[in-house]
Amino acid sequence: MPETFKNYIAGEWVEAASGETFENRNPARPSDLIGLFPRSGAEDVERAVRSARRGFEAWSRVPAPERGSIMRRAGDLMSERKEEIARAATREMGKVLLETRGDVQEGIDTAYYAGTEGRRLFGHVVPSELPDKWAMTYRRPIGVCGIITPFNFPMAIPTWKIFPALLCGNSVVFKPGEDVPHTATLFVEILLEAGVHPEAVQLVHGFGEEVGAPLVEHPDVPVISFTGSTETGRRIGEVCGRMHKRLSLEMGGKNAQIVMPDADLELALDGVLWGAFGTTGQRCTATSRLILHKDVDAAFVDRLVERASALRLGDGLEAETEVGPLINQAALDKVESYMQVARDEGWELLCGGARASGPGLDEGYFFQPTIFRGVQPGSRMACEEIFGPVLSIITVDDFDEAVRVNNEVRYGLSSAVYTNDVRLAFRAFQELDNGITYVNAPTIGAEAHLPFGGVKETGNGHREGGWEVYEFYSETKVCYLDYSGTLQRAQIDNY
Ligand code: NAD
Repeated sequence: MPETFKNYIAGEWVEAASGETFENRNPARPSDLIGLFPRSGAEDVERAVRSARRGFEAWSRVPAPERGSIMRRAGDLMSERKEEIARAATREMGKVLLETRGDVQEGIDTAYYAGTEGRRLFGHVVPSELPDKWAMTYRRPIGVCGIITPFNFPMAIPTWKIFPALLCGNSVVFKPGEDVPHTATLFVEILLEAGVHPEAVQLVHGFGEEVGAPLVEHPDVPVISFTGSTETGRRIGEVCGRMHKRLSLEMGGKNAQIVMPDADLELALDGVLWGAFGTTGQRCTATSRLILHKDVDAAFVDRLVERASALRLGDGLEAETEVGPLINQAALDKVESYMQVARDEGWELLCGGARASGPGLDEGYFFQPTIFRGVQPGSRMACEEIFGPVLSIITVDDFDEAVRVNNEVRYGLSSAVYTNDVRLAFRAFQELDNGITYVNAPTIGAEAHLPFGGVKETGNGHREGGWEVYEFYSETKVCYLDYSGTLQRAQIDNY
């Protein structure tokens, strides 16, 4: 019998109101049933929000440094259980263990950052323009935050949202990606063991339309933080706009690595391989375009193809595996459908291009690392997010054209430039229209203590990570105290 998991609502582990469940299977071996999870709906969301409102009343009164100590304890517990969590995440999500260990480590780093922020949730004291009057600001919690996360970073992304939300004194209703409910369950166990108030955190498993949508539409949830596809984000944005909610959106990407002829080509090769095929291309920051200057040695592409073709596919839990499966059948079908797009558009296939087969690969959702050459800017392959191990090579005449090609897509998350020319490095920082630009490093590799997010249709102006996210999860309160004993009229009596 498979293990049956529960929601965490109103301080207890409970089934969905409907009693229904859904299956969580290993994408490397779908016959491996990890467990049954509650298939929740609007009724469960309603109970969770009601409880989270009570949780907010209690938790928001806990002093911020004490909330910070609890976040730090959560980081300690995650460190102790790092290997167990990483294995659970690889089993349900598929990426290799090396990467899920990094995913958990990012969560630990985020916990410790939140721990210190508890003693640093600064406001300002500002001189008043009037005598005998003080002016100051402080950061105030907001209320119940709805947290909706994707499958690809099952630990890091929930922690980016939930640690700062809780540190600021809010309560959360957490709706994890339906493909990764087990990692989410382990995270909530850790939060509770660390000492988060039992009604300040609620976990409601299930599908987007059935749990995510009622959470977004709930009038008592003033804050929504979403990471996922641009299409889903647009729908959520429409609802939140109508309801005047505070909303953070982190969405799709079509990231490029630019390689100039003066670059260290070995480094550029390592960068593009890791950027394009790490996490099987299922990162929002994955490299899906390689913008190659025409004078880059032709052997570069030959070496790239050779190394991409030699990547070892398999179960991410096995030590020798370098690339795991895609998340599910729908993802496999989507990536496969882009092979037809590339054929229709007429691009040259250099390697891959099909589902992978062979020992250990026939059952899971494996796709060969794939590279196309001669892809033209503006084409579907050059512009659309595929979210799989597919790289399109675009050749350009000079750096100006590389910048134009990088900037022509509707997304704007991450970019990378390989060059040893310091002038081009700084031009890249200035001219590439992305939230993050790397020089001589791949498009992936964000660090937890820096802001993270993208421009254009990748985001809506907010950032996760670092110090900026604390502004999203708190409201600035401005406080004036006039001890002059007279009516002092700003802008009038002093001019
Ligand atoms: P998705 O949009 O399908 O799902 C994300 C989450 O939204 C899931 O929990 C899902 O159940 C929920 N959801 C779906 N429909 C909903 C609705 N109508 N209302 C409320 N919630 C709903 O995305 P995914 O396939 O899980 O993740 C892949 C996408 O996420 C890619 O586009 C990727 O680029 C993006 N992503 C972005 C970032 C970033 O920081 N910019 C990070 C990781 C992933």
